Amino acid sequence: MKKVACPHCGQDWVHMYRRKDTGALFFMCPECESLWLEEGAIEDPTELYLSEYMTQYDAASVWDVIEQVT
Ligand SMILES: [Zn+2]
Repeated sequence: MKKVACPHCGQDWVHMYRRKDTGALFFMCPECESLWLEEGAIEDPTELYLSEYMTQYDAASVWDVIEQVT
């Protein structure tokens, strides 16, 4: 995917991740954990964060359930 700087914090690139539990792909800034469900929407502001997308996991374990794809 093309490099898009996080529109929220500007501190990192937005990367593609995969949920290990469902296999679903999503896009996230690892710095501020802003999250997008569609690559085409990354340059728009998002209200979604990792903790809200994966509410069944707590902050300590949620990173164990996702893996970076790109
Ligand atoms: Zn960010």
